[in-house]
This record gives sequence, C-alpha cells and structure tokens, in this order.
Amino acid sequence: VAAPAQQQTRHYRQPELNDQIETVLDSLKIADDQLVHIMHLLEAEMNAGLSPSTHDQAVVKMFPTYVKNIPTGTEVGQVLALDLGGTNFRVLLIDLRGNSRIELTSKIFLIPQSIMMGDGKQLFRHLSECLHEFMLKEHILNTDVCYPIGFTFSFPCSQEGLASARLTSWTKGFSCSGVVNEDVVKLFQNAINEKGINAKCVALINDTVGTLMACAYKDPATAVGLILGTGTNACYIEQLDKVGTWKGDYDEPKQVIINMEWGAFGDNHRLDFIRTRYDEEVDLSSTNPGRQIFEKMISGLYMGEIVRLIILDLLQRELLFLGHRDTYGDYKTPLYNRGGFYTKFVSTVETDEGIKFSNTRRVLEDIGIQNPTFDDCAIVQHICRQVSKRAAKLAAAGLSVLINRIGRPNVTVGVDGSLYRYHPRFKTNMERCMDMLVNKSIQFKIALSDDGSGKGAALVACLAEGTSWKKPA
Ligand code: BGC
Ligand code: MG
Repeated sequence: VAAPAQQQTRHYRQPELNDQIETVLDSLKIADDQLVHIMHLLEAEMNAGLSPSTHDQAVVKMFPTYVKNIPTGTEVGQVLALDLGGTNFRVLLIDLRGNSRIELTSKIFLIPQSIMMGDGKQLFRHLSECLHEFMLKEHILNTDVCYPIGFTFSFPCSQEGLASARLTSWTKGFSCSGVVNEDVVKLFQNAINEKGINAKCVALINDTVGTLMACAYKDPATAVGLILGTGTNACYIEQLDKVGTWKGDYDEPKQVIINMEWGAFGDNHRLDFIRTRYDEEVDLSSTNPGRQIFEKMISGLYMGEIVRLIILDLLQRELLFLGHRDTYGDYKTPLYNRGGFYTKFVSTVETDEGIKFSNTRRVLEDIGIQNPTFDDCAIVQHICRQVSKRAAKLAAAGLSVLINRIGRPNVTVGVDGSLYRYHPRFKTNMERCMDMLVNKSIQFKIALSDDGSGKGAALVACLAEGTSWKKPA
C-alpha cells in the first residue's frame, strides 16, 4: 500500500512564494492512482503493437528484433561495432575472449548538425569514412579478413531479420532525407562497399537490445534493457506465443527480444491527461511534433528544455529572479533561447543538498543570473526536482509493467544512458516508485549496463556469425 502523498512545504525566505510556486508546479504532479492508470494504458498499447490486426495503427510498435538467444559468456571472436543515435557516434573493435571477458578499443566521432539533418546518403558515407579511419588506425584495414559488424542504430526500425531493418521514423533531432522506410543495413553496406572496406554488417540492433545483452552476459536474470539518455526506450524478452506479429522460426528458445519503442506512448493522445503546457511547447518546437510524447516527458534531450520553460513562466509571473526585474529583459541570458538550459544543469542543480546551493549558484551565474538569491536557488532546484521526479515515475511505471508481465521471481533490468548515469537521484526516485508498483512476489534489480551499445552489438554479431566466425590470428 502506498504511503499517502506528502504535501510538501518549501522553506523560502519569502513564505508567500510557497503557494504561488506550487500552483504553477502542480501540473507536473502525478498521483499514484494515475500511475496505475498509465500502466494499464501502456499494457493495452503493448498488446495492440503485438497483434497483427492492430499493429499498423498502434503507436507503441513492439518490434520483434530477431534476437532470441541471450549470451552465455563463452562467445569468442573479434568483431567491429558501430553505435549511432545517442550522445556520441562511436566505432569499436571488440575482442570477445570467452570466460565472460571482453576487451575493446573505440573512437568517438562527431556527427555534425548538417549531417544529422542532411541527406541520408551523406550520413552513411560519413559513417563509412569514420569506420575506414578507425580500421586504418587499428591496422585491420587490408587484412583479407572480412570483419563482421554489429550496428547499434538507436531509432525505431521494423525488422525482418537480424540484418534487415527499415527505419520507421527519425527521433532525437535526426532528420536525414531518404532513409525513412529504407533498409538501413543496405544503405550502410552500400556505403561500406563504395569505400572499399572489407567488412559486412551482420546485425542491426537497438541500443536497448545491446544493453540487455551486455547485462545478460553477466547476469542471466536480465530480461529487460532500458535506455534513459538523449532518448528513452525499453526492450524485454517476450514469449513467442504472445507475439502475433512474429514471422521468424519457432525453434527453441520460444522467445524473442521485443524493441518496444515506448517513447511513442501517448502519440495517440492517451497521455494528454498528464501533459502540461510546457510539454506541449517542447513538442511543438521539436523536429518531430506530435511524435515521441512519452520520450519528451522523460529523456535528456527534452528535460532541460522543460525546466527552462517553467523558469521562464515563473519569471514572467514575477516569482523568480526578482532582483533582476529591471534588467532581465535585456539581460544576456540564454534562458530566452531554445536549448538555453542544458539537461546536465538539472543534474548539477540537484547535486546540491542543504542550503548553500553552491552548484545551483554556479549554474545560474553561468547563464547570466548574477548573485541569485536564496529563494531563486531554492525555486530553481525545486523545479528541477519536480521535472526529473516526474520523469523517474513515468519510467518506473513503464518498467513495472514489463517486470510484472515477465512475472519471473527474479528480474534484472539492464540500464544505460547519460540521464541515468549522471543524474544524482533518478535511480533512487525510480526504484522507490517501482517498489510500490511491482508485484510483491517479484524481486527486481536495476543494474547499470557497461557499454551495452558497443558490447551488446558485438555479442549479437558474434552470435549471428555462430561457429563460422573465428577470431583472426
Ligand atoms: C529511439 C529508440 C532508442 C531510444 C534511446 C528513441 O528516440 O526511438 O530507438 O532506443 O531513443 O536511444
Ligand atoms: Mg548509447
């Protein structure tokens, strides 16, 4: 039974602020019974995504990934991996040594904004040029060995096999032309061939799948992969008899990892009852309005922006930065620009405990608010806490649906992503909420997955190659 929601009283130096701030922030609160309702809604959307008669209209797509086997730790081989769709684009060379040992070298490359929003051909040409540069540096370019590549491509794809994946839509600020509805593996392989690189993309996976695989490599109870980073999404192991859309074989194990694409939950307005005007504004100014509604309430690409819009609202209501009342109009603060409050600031601000607010002060001074008052700091921290706590609760509700559905006595969730890694309270807030929502008969564990996008892709590539692939001497 849930503890009764506590009415928080903040201690501002000007106590009359309390009610006024709470009135504005009230719209961010999600009550426990609403969370339970959200869980029911998500489960209904999941079933719609899994059923062939409703899949086309469904917003939560529940894509079968064609990854059926979980690694055992005995995988051996040397493979390449590419990781596109998070904070960084990386190329990796991964050595699976067996006995649960993995060694890797990697290099981070930049994807310029012009490429993120340019022509798809150019994107894949860029990827293969980075791959070329990396292989040259690692002395594996002209070795007569055709390297298998596992490609972590963290966007929604409808798969027809491990190495066949049609992009259904871009997310997270990407919008290259000529890629939606195309087979991403083909586009990438063409670019590799054109560049004369002796390598073959043998598997394309989502980052959630990589995260699940890398975590399962160490903990066989792993059944869920979660990303809380630039975007958010989850995957889990589903029984084949529940996957009406399954077109693969029915060999053992009768299970497959489902890439949920839960970021699109709410795209059919089912979540409108918890959305705020800030969420609507964030959505409207994004590259994909009307899409990824759940993701936009949770993930790192949007969290700082929600905080920024609330700060601006309080500023306009003359509840914040009053000392700057006469100057903030022409004050040089990025708060007036889209993206002017980074999500990493949310983490920094929430690192402060007590009443000194040294980090919060630093952030505010960074954005041009000189000498913020105690109340300014307390209010900004309160906003950050409310926004990140709401995100943690929503992620918790989603995870709880999965864990209850899997229903095993022990379930481990592998997690990765910048938001989860760097936010000081996200994990605690999420776990506290899950304690309330997960069936009492189930023990769940949340484990940070170590470089799932890299290692996970390597493991899948290695499993795909099976025994035909030997590590080159
Ligand atoms: C993408 C997912 C991805 C998630 C986390 C979302 O925007 O649609 O495919 O797993 O971000 O990177
Ligand atoms: Mg990543």
